[in-house]
Amino acid sequence: MAARPRPATNPDNAFFWEGVAAGELRIQRCSGCSKLRHPPGPMCPHCQSLDWDWCVASGRGHVYSFVVAHHPAIPPFEYPNAIVLVELDEGVRLVSNLLGVAPDEIRIGQPVRLEFTRVEADLVLPLFRPSPAH
Ligand code: ZN
Repeated sequence: MAARPRPATNPDNAFFWEGVAAGELRIQRCSGCSKLRHPPGPMCPHCQSLDWDWCVASGRGHVYSFVVAHHPAIPPFEYPNAIVLVELDEGVRLVSNLLGVAPDEIRIGQPVRLEFTRVEADLVLPLFRPSPAH
Protein backbone atom coordinates (compact mmCIF):
# COMPACT_ATOMS: atom_id res chain seq x y z
CA MET A 1 0.00 0.00 0.00
CA ALA A 2 1.42 3.34 -1.03
CA ALA A 3 1.82 5.97 1.66
CA ARG A 4 0.23 9.37 1.38
CA PRO A 5 2.56 12.16 0.37
CA ARG A 6 4.12 13.90 3.37
CA PRO A 7 3.91 17.65 3.92
CA ALA A 8 6.77 19.51 2.27
CA THR A 9 7.77 21.78 5.12
CA ASN A 10 9.89 24.93 4.85
CA PRO A 11 10.57 27.98 7.04
CA ASP A 12 7.31 29.59 5.84
CA ASN A 13 4.93 26.73 6.65
CA ALA A 14 6.65 24.84 9.50
CA PHE A 15 4.43 26.66 12.04
CA PHE A 16 1.35 25.25 10.30
CA TRP A 17 2.47 21.62 10.62
CA GLU A 18 3.79 22.18 14.14
CA GLY A 19 0.29 23.45 14.89
CA VAL A 20 -1.30 20.32 13.45
CA ALA A 21 0.99 18.25 15.69
CA ALA A 22 -0.15 20.38 18.65
CA GLY A 23 -3.85 20.08 17.73
CA GLU A 24 -4.13 23.68 16.51
CA LEU A 25 -5.12 25.02 13.11
CA ARG A 26 -2.65 27.90 12.81
CA ILE A 27 -3.21 30.60 10.20
CA GLN A 28 -0.51 33.01 9.11
CA ARG A 29 -1.20 36.65 10.02
CA CYS A 30 0.56 39.69 8.58
CA SER A 31 2.25 41.82 11.25
CA GLY A 32 1.94 44.88 8.98
CA CYS A 33 -1.80 44.88 8.16
CA SER A 34 -3.11 41.99 10.30
CA LYS A 35 -4.69 40.19 7.31
CA LEU A 36 -4.74 36.40 7.47
CA ARG A 37 -3.44 34.31 4.59
CA HIS A 38 -3.28 30.66 3.62
CA PRO A 39 -1.37 28.83 2.28
CA PRO A 40 1.56 30.35 4.14
CA GLY A 41 4.09 32.42 2.24
CA PRO A 42 6.97 34.77 2.93
CA MET A 43 5.31 38.06 1.89
CA CYS A 44 1.92 39.68 2.48
CA PRO A 45 0.08 40.08 -0.86
CA HIS A 46 -1.77 43.12 0.55
CA CYS A 47 1.00 45.28 2.04
CA GLN A 48 4.21 43.41 1.04
CA SER A 49 5.35 43.08 4.64
CA LEU A 50 7.75 40.22 5.34
CA ASP A 51 6.79 40.19 9.04
CA TRP A 52 4.17 37.78 10.26
CA ASP A 53 2.96 35.68 13.14
CA TRP A 54 0.00 33.33 13.35
CA CYS A 55 -3.29 32.85 15.14
CA VAL A 56 -5.29 29.73 15.95
CA ALA A 57 -8.44 29.29 13.86
CA SER A 58 -11.71 28.16 15.41
CA GLY A 59 -11.96 25.16 13.09
CA ARG A 60 -15.41 26.25 11.93
CA GLY A 61 -16.22 27.06 8.34
CA HIS A 62 -18.23 26.03 5.32
CA VAL A 63 -17.73 24.31 1.98
CA TYR A 64 -16.72 27.06 -0.45
CA SER A 65 -16.26 24.66 -3.36
CA PHE A 66 -15.46 21.04 -4.02
CA VAL A 67 -14.58 18.53 -6.70
CA VAL A 68 -15.11 14.78 -6.74
CA ALA A 69 -12.21 13.02 -8.44
CA HIS A 70 -13.02 9.68 -10.07
CA HIS A 71 -10.10 9.07 -12.41
CA PRO A 72 -7.23 8.34 -12.45
CA ALA A 73 -7.28 6.47 -9.12
CA ILE A 74 -3.95 7.19 -7.44
CA PRO A 75 -3.05 5.01 -4.43
CA PRO A 76 -3.49 5.32 -1.50
CA PHE A 77 -6.47 7.65 -1.95
CA GLU A 78 -9.98 6.25 -2.02
CA TYR A 79 -12.27 7.00 -4.96
CA PRO A 80 -14.47 8.78 -5.60
CA ASN A 81 -12.28 11.28 -3.73
CA ALA A 82 -14.13 14.38 -2.56
CA ILE A 83 -11.71 17.30 -2.30
CA VAL A 84 -13.18 20.35 -0.62
CA LEU A 85 -12.15 23.97 -0.42
CA VAL A 86 -13.19 25.05 3.06
CA GLU A 87 -13.67 28.72 3.85
CA LEU A 88 -12.93 29.17 7.53
CA ASP A 89 -14.99 31.58 9.62
CA GLU A 90 -11.77 33.62 9.83
CA GLY A 91 -12.04 34.20 6.06
CA VAL A 92 -9.21 32.12 4.60
CA ARG A 93 -9.66 28.96 2.58
CA LEU A 94 -7.86 25.64 2.66
CA VAL A 95 -7.99 22.45 0.66
CA SER A 96 -9.01 19.36 2.62
CA ASN A 97 -11.24 16.31 2.63
CA LEU A 98 -14.67 15.89 4.15
CA LEU A 99 -15.36 13.01 6.53
CA GLY A 100 -18.64 11.24 7.13
CA VAL A 101 -20.54 12.33 4.03
CA ALA A 102 -21.06 10.69 0.64
CA PRO A 103 -19.52 12.70 -2.22
CA ASP A 104 -22.96 13.22 -3.83
CA GLU A 105 -24.29 14.73 -0.59
CA ILE A 106 -21.72 17.51 -0.32
CA ARG A 107 -23.23 20.97 -0.82
CA ILE A 108 -21.75 24.41 -1.35
CA GLY A 109 -22.24 26.41 1.82
CA GLN A 110 -22.51 23.32 4.01
CA PRO A 111 -21.22 24.10 7.53
CA VAL A 112 -18.19 22.05 8.55
CA ARG A 113 -15.93 21.70 11.54
CA LEU A 114 -12.31 20.74 11.83
CA GLU A 115 -11.36 17.25 12.91
CA PHE A 116 -7.68 16.37 13.23
CA THR A 117 -7.55 12.89 11.74
CA ARG A 118 -4.82 10.30 11.96
CA VAL A 119 -4.79 8.97 8.39
CA GLU A 120 -1.64 6.87 8.86
CA ALA A 121 0.34 5.82 11.92
CA ASP A 122 2.62 8.86 11.66
CA LEU A 123 0.43 11.29 9.73
CA VAL A 124 -2.31 13.54 11.11
CA LEU A 125 -4.18 15.87 8.75
CA PRO A 126 -6.65 18.70 9.36
CA LEU A 127 -9.81 17.25 7.80
CA PHE A 128 -13.41 18.41 8.14
CA ARG A 129 -16.78 16.95 8.96
CA PRO A 130 -20.28 18.33 8.35
CA SER A 131 -21.55 20.17 11.37
CA PRO A 132 -24.83 21.73 12.47
CA ALA A 133 -25.14 25.34 11.36
CA HIS A 134 -23.18 27.71 13.57
ZN1 ZN B 1 0.02 42.85 5.21
